Amino acid sequence: MIPIRSYVSLLSRYLRRVKARMTVLAGFALGGIALQLLLPQLIGRFIDDAIGGAATDQLIPLALWFLVVALARQALAIATTWLAEDVGWRSTNELRSDLTRHVLDLDMDFHKEHTPGELIERVDGDVTALSEFFSAFVVKVVGNGLLVTGILILITFEHALVGLILSVFTLATLALMMAVQTVAIPWWKTQRASSAELMGFLGEQLSGTEDIRANGGVGFMVHTFTDILRRWLPRRVRSRLGFAMLWGTGIVHFVVGATLVMWLGTRYLGPGGLTLGGVYLIFHYTEMTRNPMDEIRSQMEVFQKAGAGIDRVTELMERRSNLDTSGTTAIPSGALSVVFDHMSFAYADDETSTVLHDIDISIAPGRVVGVLGRSGSGKSTMAKVLTRLYDPTQGRVLLGGVDPREASLHDLRRRVGMVTQDVQLFRTTVRNNLTFFDAAINDERLMSVLADLGLSNWLDSLPNGLDTMLESGAGGLSAGQAQLLAFTRIFLKNPGLVILDEASSRLDPATEAMIESAVAAVIMDRTAFVIAHHLGTVARADDIMIIENGTVIEFGERTTLQADPTSRFSRLLASGMEEVLA
Ligand code: ATP
Ligand code: MG
Repeated sequence: MIPIRSYVSLLSRYLRRVKARMTVLAGFALGGIALQLLLPQLIGRFIDDAIGGAATDQLIPLALWFLVVALARQALAIATTWLAEDVGWRSTNELRSDLTRHVLDLDMDFHKEHTPGELIERVDGDVTALSEFFSAFVVKVVGNGLLVTGILILITFEHALVGLILSVFTLATLALMMAVQTVAIPWWKTQRASSAELMGFLGEQLSGTEDIRANGGVGFMVHTFTDILRRWLPRRVRSRLGFAMLWGTGIVHFVVGATLVMWLGTRYLGPGGLTLGGVYLIFHYTEMTRNPMDEIRSQMEVFQKAGAGIDRVTELMERRSNLDTSGTTAIPSGALSVVFDHMSFAYADDETSTVLHDIDISIAPGRVVGVLGRSGSGKSTMAKVLTRLYDPTQGRVLLGGVDPREASLHDLRRRVGMVTQDVQLFRTTVRNNLTFFDAAINDERLMSVLADLGLSNWLDSLPNGLDTMLESGAGGLSAGQAQLLAFTRIFLKNPGLVILDEASSRLDPATEAMIESAVAAVIMDRTAFVIAHHLGTVARADDIMIIENGTVIEFGERTTLQADPTSRFSRLLASGMEEVLA
């Protein structure tokens, strides 16, 4: 049941990067074992010499040696722990960043299935559970295995029969531990899955707290939370029981072992058998197996936790994006032509849920297309297909003559810019929010872009200019300001196609005017889709596209449509968009 192969492959992949440290760590661990084995030998000799009537002068060097070795052992123990932590964090951080990168590359379907909270639990929680596995598993299991073997061999040197009996006993304890562990692993897995669910729920609810409170959803959410907790608790209890059982076997080992040694010791003490120092030595050694057995046991815990974690990590790593991102075709520079070639799209696989139906339209480079349609008609969906958050279900899209599925994703993201209905801001400075952490964009460039967009006044109104901190979400800014910020983002990357998904809420006239002039600047010399909720916005469009229930019911030049009294567009203009569409 234990996926040994994925354990090994994951371990070797990430430990290879910290090879030198691992080697030093192994050296320290081996040194520690040797010193641990040496210590009781010194005491045993001390006892036998003392009983044999050795002079104090002979005993003192032994005692001093004991002190030196004991201190050295502690020093090595500290160094080993430190190094093990270091190796653990280094390797798991690599794993964390690989996972994060992977998750960010996955398609939108994946992100719809998994809440941010759940992903955090998987990228961080599961990996943290792995960190001890990475840092110490090999060193501790191999090290402690060697230590126990060494102890048993040395006991056998003292007395062959006692050595044999204690070896059998030790093996039996280990077998018992293995058995308990097999029972406990599935308990652990269900508990981790439960935790992820809990975190996912919490993450989602906390980020949606404004809406939940405003809509009176608190009661329901608390109720759901209680439900999840109620499911979580028994699993948690059972998984702790698994630990307790493992822990118990360690105690049993100690009690039975000590009894066994006392009995064997009294039996074989005397001439031809064991010396008093020898009995002490065996007792001490048996007592000493307790620690490594305990370590091996606790590594089994680590191993079980890792089992669940590794399963989930490899599962996540093996999840492939629905979007094939291996394309390399370059997208031409300058304004991009846009062709919908009998393109249909559905979010789900079944036919009935098709959101966009057989769209077949060509748009020349540099045209500004005003897109109109009722709420839910599929406007934003069209934008998502154009930016390749999704691929068409049927037919295709061509941008500058290139199918986005064959284009390099990096190129595509650079050449197509979108401002969505609700702009996501990050909890950092205005500067970083504008440049998306691209340090290559200097302040001068930023200022001149802001000036081009008519945003200099806005910048001046900020308390700390570009260094003003923003809240995450859209906390610090109004919807209009957030959109202005997003325009600047687009302007900085100079795309050949821009898609502006206008916020459906009304803005105040001052912001509206700023947006107007910013839009004018952004769509200049570019192909543009302006998804409009207000008729004023489409005044500058070259073409008009009206979508109803996912079908383009009208498409043509704005002036032509305007002049034709039978067109939908002119009827819209006559009666006002709000009446006809909304
Ligand atoms: P609005 O004017 O309100 O912004 P819209 O025209 O942009 O509306 P879309 O967001 O494109 O509308 O939605 C079109 C249809 O697709 C709707 O019926 C919606 O329920 C559905 N839809 C949108 N996003 C998803 C999604 N992520 N998964 C499944 N269905 C979706
Ligand atoms: Mg929309």
